[in-house]
Amino acid sequence: MILPIVAYGHPVLRVDCEDITKDYPGLETLIGDMWETLYNSNGVGLAAPQVNKPIRLFVVDTFQIVENFDEEDKRLYPNEKPIKQVFINAHRITSNGEMWAYNEGCLSIPKIREDVLRPEQIRLRYLDENFQEKEEEFYGVTARVIMHEYDHIDGKLFIDYLPPLKKRLIKKKLSDISKGKVKVDYRMLLPK
Ligand SMILES: [Zn+2]
Repeated sequence: MILPIVAYGHPVLRVDCEDITKDYPGLETLIGDMWETLYNSNGVGLAAPQVNKPIRLFVVDTFQIVENFDEEDKRLYPNEKPIKQVFINAHRITSNGEMWAYNEGCLSIPKIREDVLRPEQIRLRYLDENFQEKEEEFYGVTARVIMHEYDHIDGKLFIDYLPPLKKRLIKKKLSDISKGKVKVDYRMLLPK
């Protein structure tokens, strides 16, 4: 089932989300619905708070990004290893490397894209969909998407990193998104 995506301004997007246990009600269905919702909106990552669930769960599929790499991207990210992966109860161990800019967007903040600085690498401890414990390191665009989704389960958004001037410039657009005054081809859940 395709779920509505929570729009900017909704308080669930600011919750520091909680770990879950294996018996979290309807978990398998929720994960399936999140994949369906992600692909329906042409996203590359989706976090549970974006479907109104304040839990530490997100899904990432960076294969589409890598398939659409142009020559420049191939040069920039020669060792890119795309993933399709469910992350449950993810916790950051380290985040290292040089800060680099990448143009980010968010399904909860449609029609706004901005360059965001983040470090090169992230190492995470998490559970996969079978609740198998993993510890893994990610690089490149895949690390970037993971960091963006990881921020969601900590209640953070990519626009939090923008300099004050940029923030002022998008203020009106953000308030329009909160009121549903933005045209998207997926269903959104607006703040009350
Ligand atoms: Zn996002």
